[in-house]
Amino acid sequence: MIKKNDVVTMGYTLKNSGGEVLDSADAKEPLNYLHGAKNIVPGLEEAIEGLAIGGKVDVTVPPEKGYGEDDPGLRLKIPRANFPADADIKPDMQFASEMDGHRQIFTVISVENDEINVDGNHPLAGQTLHFSVEILGVRGATEEELSHGHVHDGTHHH
Ligand code: ZN
Repeated sequence: MIKKNDVVTMGYTLKNSGGEVLDSADAKEPLNYLHGAKNIVPGLEEAIEGLAIGGKVDVTVPPEKGYGEDDPGLRLKIPRANFPADADIKPDMQFASEMDGHRQIFTVISVENDEINVDGNHPLAGQTLHFSVEILGVRGATEEELSHGHVHDGTHHH
């Protein structure tokens, strides 16, 4: 039964309300995450709590339990002069900025002569998310994983 501090291996399909597949993972390349560490959106984490290996669930996650409501205040025009002169600014580039005391990730939307249009919303902000999940594995996390707050599955270490 999945509980806080378990490492969960799962396959999933994520669709938007229009039925378009936005993301997926299967048994070949599953998602491993540390349960209860906010590694996945809250609405999905709540739905998975208590499932066992082989468990399947379809869950609809509203924006407030997903990637948040779309915030128009996070769409900004920034003078080109605020960026390093030698930086090659292109759409889809991301950068972090300090905002109201927290680190906010912005994505470059477009570049207009001397202004850069950026958006600090998550690309899935404001969207209702439809997940179909299958639990493929559950194990206890190691001490190291717990101290880092994420899974060490051999593909990364830091
Ligand atoms: Zn780590």
